[in-house]
Amino acid sequence: MFIDTHLHLDAAEFSPNRAELWQAARLAGVSQAIVPAVSAANFAMVRQMRDEFGVAVAYGLHPMYLAEHTDAHLELLADYLQRERPVAVGECGLDLFVPGLDPLRQEQLLLAQLRLARRFELPVILHVRRAQDQVLKCLRQVPVRGGVAHAFNGSAQQAEAFIKLGFCLGFGGAMTYQGSQRIRRLAASLPMSAIVLETDGPDIPPEWAQGQPNAPANLARIAGVLAVLRNMSVADIAQETSANARRMFVDL
Ligand SMILES: [Zn+2]
Repeated sequence: MFIDTHLHLDAAEFSPNRAELWQAARLAGVSQAIVPAVSAANFAMVRQMRDEFGVAVAYGLHPMYLAEHTDAHLELLADYLQRERPVAVGECGLDLFVPGLDPLRQEQLLLAQLRLARRFELPVILHVRRAQDQVLKCLRQVPVRGGVAHAFNGSAQQAEAFIKLGFCLGFGGAMTYQGSQRIRRLAASLPMSAIVLETDGPDIPPEWAQGQPNAPANLARIAGVLAVLRNMSVADIAQETSANARRMFVDL
């Protein structure tokens, strides 16, 4: 059975057939998923996903929605972490690729969320785009108990630095493209204990689903790609990546 460690099941793209898509994922062997919130505006919807589908959830303020976040949302986030007991803080991080997102404000919000993760003893789900070293610097400033650097797209040295800080690296749709050579090399060569699977649905569709919302059932075939890259059986990939996810997210 597979665990999708990063699925935006609450996304509008899924609203016409969300229940069917989740059912199809279950039939494809996806036993559990983590649904991370991105903004205070979707905390309630994410909680509803947990109640309706039994998925695990996380709450956080995503850097791409920087314009929506206020300091009051950090207090609301603390309330949710205390009351709802999610499996992680997230999705949070730094995005230095999308223009117009003030880097200083991003860093301030990330550091505040890392402090919340320490306070509630939770792992962290990180969005890291063109900001590997900057996020590593924040983690050294405010160390947390670990988590996942999702849709990992850094260098081997940066991967090693995240692993040393207690993190797993999330691999998904990007790994299915022949052209993603660096990501495929890392997926093939990193210690198996550092790898978790994710779809990031509805984003990052795999090679066979380009132009469509990335459905959670794609995780089974993504696992098959990792099995080929590592010359392992799909059953072993499922067993090891699920064990990694359960080690990282205690209540999964
Ligand atoms: Zn995400």
